[in-house]
Amino acid sequence: MPDSDGMLTRRTILGLVAIAPLAIAAQAHAASCADPATLSAAQKSMRKSLGFKSPAPDPAKHCATCAFFTGKGADCGQCALLSGGIVPANGVCDSWAKKG
Ligand code: SF4
Repeated sequence: MPDSDGMLTRRTILGLVAIAPLAIAAQAHAASCADPATLSAAQKSMRKSLGFKSPAPDPAKHCATCAFFTGKGADCGQCALLSGGIVPANGVCDSWAKKG
């Protein structure tokens, strides 16, 4: 925060430097989990051809319960059918297969 002179204090600057990596990590996580805006045309085309949607209309059938899903975290993972593409755990496509 600026002090009474409108200048940033040393403590404020150190605080901002300390939290910057956390903010960047949070943004990277959000962007890495199938942010549609970051997908290539090929990735979008593949998702469209598989009828991918998020969130899944049937709560029992979603990526996290699919045999092709490898979880990276609680809310996203990789899909083997999408060439290892990152998908949200709550998504689903027409090729969903129950995890064994
Ligand atoms: S095959 Fe479909 S339902 Fe299964 S993880 Fe990939 S996108 Fe999700």
